Amino acid sequence: IDSKLPNVGTNIFTTMGRLANEHNAVNLSQGFPNFGADPKLLQLAADALKGGYNQYAPMQGSVSLRIKISEKIETLYEKTYHPESEITITSGATQAIFTAISTFIRPGDEVIVLKPAYDCYEPAIEVFGGKTIPIQLEGLNYTLNWNTFKSAISSKTKMVIINTPHNPAGTIWNEIDMLQLQEILKDTNIILLSDEVYEHIVFDGKQHESVAKYPELASRSIICSSFGKTFHVTGWKIGYCVAPKALMHEFQKVHQFNVFCVNHPAQEALAKYLETPEHYLTLGQFYQEKRDYFLNAILGSRFKMIPSSGTYFQLLEYSDITNETDTEFAERLIKEYKLASIPVSVFNLDNLDNKQLRFCFAKTNTVLDQAAEILNRI
Ligand code: PMP
Ligand code: GLN
Repeated sequence: IDSKLPNVGTNIFTTMGRLANEHNAVNLSQGFPNFGADPKLLQLAADALKGGYNQYAPMQGSVSLRIKISEKIETLYEKTYHPESEITITSGATQAIFTAISTFIRPGDEVIVLKPAYDCYEPAIEVFGGKTIPIQLEGLNYTLNWNTFKSAISSKTKMVIINTPHNPAGTIWNEIDMLQLQEILKDTNIILLSDEVYEHIVFDGKQHESVAKYPELASRSIICSSFGKTFHVTGWKIGYCVAPKALMHEFQKVHQFNVFCVNHPAQEALAKYLETPEHYLTLGQFYQEKRDYFLNAILGSRFKMIPSSGTYFQLLEYSDITNETDTEFAERLIKEYKLASIPVSVFNLDNLDNKQLRFCFAKTNTVLDQAAEILNRI
C-alpha cells in the first residue's frame, strides 16, 4: 500500500494505555479524568436525549451552544466572535485541528510546530502535503528562542501552531510571549492555529493568555478548545473553534463535508451547563489542588520537577535514578512497578530525551496516593 503516513504507528496513548491494562498498572499515562463528570451535566445530557435532540444539529453546531461560547469568550478575553459566522462546534479539538489544517494547507506549505508537540498536528500536516518545520523548545522548562523562531519563517510559511497551556510541558505563555509572537507575525499572511484546550486549567493565580485577547493575533487565528478537558467528559468528543468570518467561512466549507455536524444532545446539555460560569471558572483551583496533592505526596522521592503551571500533566525528571531512555524507563515502570506514564521524548524533535516522564494528575486522591507510594520507593 502506498501509505500517506509511512512513519506513523500506533500512537503513544494507545500503546501505553494497552500496556497499563495488560499489567494492571496504576494509569497516569493518557490524559483523562478517572472521576465522573458533574451529575448536573449528566442529568442535562439525559434531559437532552429525552427532550428530542436526537436529529442532526445545525452544521455549525447548536445555536444555543454557539451563543454561550461567544458570551464566554467575550467575558474572559474581551473579543466578540459572532455565533452565526465565527464559531463551529467540532468533534473534539482533534477534529477542529485536523479540519483547520486540511482547510488551509496545500502541498509544499510550511507549518511551524513547537516541540514537544501534541501528537495530532504533524500527521495532519503531512496528509495534506504540508511540511512541518519543527522548533525544539529549550531547557527543562521548554522556553522558545524567539530568534530561532523568527529565522524559521520563510515565504512558504503558511501556518504556525501554538499550544498554551502546553501538553506535555505543563508550561503557559505570558503576555510578553504573545506580544513577541504578534510582533514577529505582524507583516505576514501567516495563519495562527492556537490550541487552547487547557484554557481553564491554569495555576498559581496566573491567567490564560488567549490569542483572542490580542487583536492583531486574533485577526489571523483559529482558536480550538475542548469541553472534554473542561467538564471531565473526554469521551463526549465535543470541542469548538472560533475564527474571524473569512477564515471560518473556509473552515466550514470543509467541516460540512467532513462530519457535517456533531453529537446534538451533548451540545444542548453543554449549552445549558455553560449558563453557570462557575462550572469552568473553578477548574483551575480544582486541578491546582490535585497538582499540589500529587507533588506533596512525592516530596520524598528521587524525582525532580518544576511544578506544572497549567494542564493536568506533571513532568518528573529521573536522571538521579537511572540512565535508561525515557521509553525504556516508562516501560519498566509499568512492568516492574505497575505505574503507567508517558515518555516525553516521543513529542520532542529527534526524540530528544530529557529523562522526563509525563504523569496525568486528573485522578482521584486514592489513585494519586497509589502512584505516589510507587514513586517514593523507586
Ligand atoms: N490538543 C491538546 C494539547 C490535547 O492535549 C488534546 C487532548 N489530549 C487535544 C488537543 C484533543 O482534544 P479532544 O480530546 O477534544 O479532541
Ligand atoms: N490528550 C490526551 C493526552 O495527551 C490523549 C488523547 C488521545 O489519546 N488522543 O494524554
